[in-house]
Amino acid sequence: MREKNPMICPVCGVAMNHHADKIDYNVEAHDAAAVDPDLGGVVEEAHTCPECGQTFVRAERVEA
Ligand SMILES: [Zn+2]
Repeated sequence: MREKNPMICPVCGVAMNHHADKIDYNVEAHDAAAVDPDLGGVVEEAHTCPECGQTFVRAERVEA
């Protein structure tokens, strides 16, 4: 299954695998627009690179 908007590994430049979501309640660390008001936190996507194996996390984009 391919993602519409895969995260690209900043090291290798390949599409990464989205393998988990987590909620970060430390909302002050994020752009207020990324905070999900229903959850009271920011949904973060964890992505792992198939090439180098590193994991990176990004805030899920909230569609207005
Ligand atoms: Zn990589």
